[in-house]
Amino acid sequence: MRDYTQFKLDIHVHTTNSSDSCINLETIPEILDKKGLDGLAITDHDKITKYDIKEKIVLQGAEISTINGHLIALNIKKNINSGMSMGRTINEVHSQGGIAIIAHPYNFPQNCNLKKLDIRPDGIEVLNARVMFCNISTSLSKRMAVKLSIPMTGGSDSHIPDTVGDSYTIVEAESDSIDDIIDAFRMGRITFSGNCSSLRKRIKSRIYSITKKL
Ligand SMILES: [Zn+2]
Ligand SMILES: [Zn+2]
Repeated sequence: MRDYTQFKLDIHVHTTNSSDSCINLETIPEILDKKGLDGLAITDHDKITKYDIKEKIVLQGAEISTINGHLIALNIKKNINSGMSMGRTINEVHSQGGIAIIAHPYNFPQNCNLKKLDIRPDGIEVLNARVMFCNISTSLSKRMAVKLSIPMTGGSDSHIPDTVGDSYTIVEAESDSIDDIIDAFRMGRITFSGNCSSLRKRIKSRIYSITKKL
């Protein structure tokens, strides 16, 4: 049996390249150190944000708005259009060698009806630390993931620095290379950990996002 190392990655983080986030790229190394994370995925809305730091794992990704809810795309090379069906978007992610994870399937109004999906995602974001009804959403998402035998992930969905790493994904990989990390996602050697962000932080994050968009 192979030896795997566990890596803690927050795979759902928005930066100032999203219209509703205030996380500056320059502050990310410090935030990751402070939160004890091995890395992250930057998942701005519908666009890739290029970023690289030597000491940490950085997955290139985006959170894509489909007509059936949000999809986290990891390890994609090119931007993917929003507004397509979930199935078509997953296909596009896979054609780029990426990993497709259904984001917050129970976050009204961005719910995703997983039973109607004709293509299998690589994961379901069971613990999204930012959704308003976080505990209920987590248990419903977990039940769905178990029923469909789809690997489970966690992510903070951070729009403010305070919440980064509140929840995260534990990845069991052969090394910290991007190829090995992506291989671990593909093989399902992933699980979620952490907690829902405190209600105070969730409210703060939402107020920030709404006012920034005004
Ligand atoms: Zn979302
Ligand atoms: Zn998000």
